Amino acid sequence: MNKAASVGRWLLLNALAGTLLASCQSNNSSTTGHPDLLQANLDTTVRPGDDFFTYANGAWLKKHPIPASESAWGIGSEVQEEVYTRLKALNQEAAKASAVTGSTQQKIGDFWATGMDSVKADKLGIQPLQAELNRIAAMRTSQDVQDEIARLKPLGVNALVGLYVGQDAKNSEKMALQLWQAGLGLPNRDYYFNKDSRTVNIRREYGKHVAKIFQLLGQDSVTAKANSAQVVKLETTLAGSSRKLEALRDPYANYNKMTVADLGKRTGLDWKTWLAKVDLAQADTVIVGQPEFYKTAGQLLKTTPVDAWRAYLQWHLVNAYADNLSRPIDDEHFHFYGTILRGQKEQRARWKRVLDEEEDAMGEMLGQLFVKEYFKPATKQRYEKLVTNIMVSFREHIQKLDWMSDSTKQKALVKLGKITPKVGYPDKWKDYSTLTIDRSSYAANTMRARQWAYQYNINKLGKPVDRTEWDMTPQTYNAYYNPSNNEIVLPAAIFAVPGLKDEDADDAIIYGYAGASTIGHELTHGFDDEGSQFDEKGNLRNWWTKTDRKLFQQRVNGIVRQFNGYQVLDSLHINGKATAGENIADLGGIVIALDAFKKTDEYKKGQKIAGLTPEQRYFLGYALGWQSHQRDEVLAQRVLTDVHSPANLRVNGPFADVPEFYQAFGVQQNQKLWRPDSARVKIW
Ligand SMILES: [Zn+2]
Repeated sequence: MNKAASVGRWLLLNALAGTLLASCQSNNSSTTGHPDLLQANLDTTVRPGDDFFTYANGAWLKKHPIPASESAWGIGSEVQEEVYTRLKALNQEAAKASAVTGSTQQKIGDFWATGMDSVKADKLGIQPLQAELNRIAAMRTSQDVQDEIARLKPLGVNALVGLYVGQDAKNSEKMALQLWQAGLGLPNRDYYFNKDSRTVNIRREYGKHVAKIFQLLGQDSVTAKANSAQVVKLETTLAGSSRKLEALRDPYANYNKMTVADLGKRTGLDWKTWLAKVDLAQADTVIVGQPEFYKTAGQLLKTTPVDAWRAYLQWHLVNAYADNLSRPIDDEHFHFYGTILRGQKEQRARWKRVLDEEEDAMGEMLGQLFVKEYFKPATKQRYEKLVTNIMVSFREHIQKLDWMSDSTKQKALVKLGKITPKVGYPDKWKDYSTLTIDRSSYAANTMRARQWAYQYNINKLGKPVDRTEWDMTPQTYNAYYNPSNNEIVLPAAIFAVPGLKDEDADDAIIYGYAGASTIGHELTHGFDDEGSQFDEKGNLRNWWTKTDRKLFQQRVNGIVRQFNGYQVLDSLHINGKATAGENIADLGGIVIALDAFKKTDEYKKGQKIAGLTPEQRYFLGYALGWQSHQRDEVLAQRVLTDVHSPANLRVNGPFADVPEFYQAFGVQQNQKLWRPDSARVKIW
């Protein structure tokens, strides 16, 4: 669902205010007295034609090693730090104030206060989950198991069923009940089967971790080990029926609409009754992403002993709330998910983790306070204008395509013209008035927040689609394209550049950083291998001629081949097919925003700033957006689970396809990034 860049990127919003589309007259570093940001980041020991990412960002990366508490660090982390600091101040103030019960102040203040109260969390131990643990312990039949899964669903526990209400991919005017594969404790199905030593080790550690959690629930070591083995066995069967990352990107294959009665027949389960238990009695049809997964789930409910389900549900319940419980559970959770999986050396500060939890719980409540202070209407207008300029350039690109017929071009232009840009923050905020937050306990607040979010989502069934909604908060350093709404959504924080003052932000940086890597990228998602299958109304419906589709697919195959060729770690290669949509969007964003930049005064004047030409600064501005590095553990995880390529390849990969890049940096045939003309991919 989320089409966005997963690498977090954030900014100091006010730093950019006033400079966005300003023509650049006095940007020379020698006149401002400030070192040029782009120049300061360069590692000139690396030739741009060999490894542009390192050339552009190397000095910065050397100066900013990954902190012990982090698994990755980059420009996004710096913006995030700034956002954390601001939100912390808002929270501390709210916690001190004697606010009216039910007010925003009271909810934020109480959530923060219970989150920070580690003494109370330690004292309570597992107690906040005890009622559910007792029910799980009392299960005797398969029916009891199904009932308990229904109870855990609104609590946000990842147990067997992945369920939500979302737009019907073939009728974007309707909200539909959807089922998706779910229920694994490891990041995805590949972790249960891959044979490389890294994954084998993770699997072994996972088994130990689940056993330790059982011991922390009071089981002796022999029982805990046996229960852990049952959990892993059950999950391995579910993983075996789960689809691979690339298979999940085929919108037709993952659209299987059926009646609830038919789903019952296919799975041997009484879904009508089960759905009534999760407040979805009115549902009569369901879109099932992966029917074979639910067939297996139905079989497992009949054949797997209740004891194994007991272990499975205990494990997933505790896992869902480990962060909110006492220190020993929190520490053990961190040991596996932080250290083993992500390579973190130490736990992150509690206050930051509380803010993350609060973001999930009531992010738009924080967002309202955030933008009031940090994203002024003038800034919003400037970025809206940048969006318009990039859209004009995209339109011209489509008109000039040499491989697409006029009839398909007309439809592509209609689709582009109908894209809704959402910039900064929502016009209408979520109403949290029915969410209760108090000072009882951190876990209790989180449980209520997750129940609230569940009800909020399922209440959409049968109601008109609300196209004003946002799936990200304004303080998120990220962005997305939503095919069902044919919209790009650009949160306020994505536009920030840490350390960049107004007078130093020239158009080249802005067009490369915001124009290409964010706006152009998200627009292109409407026309990547997946997004292009949706029409201007957000419906999964073909609007291409057969020949055009074939010619498009040939170009997509080119980018798949290109990225399949990149090896990132040990024996791990990029999955060209799984990352195709993102790589197409990166390449599209770069060429579209570049042509928009060519219309600016800065480009036309052609004057150097800090020794760099406008075109060079544009490419460096884009690379700035991916200025980050990560631990090997994270890199390995991303290759298996993320549809985005690693940061260095989001720069080096698409740049190797762009002729202006070769010219701007004099890239020669004997350099590593050089690709022959015939191998360079050009799509949009
Ligand atoms: Zn993307």
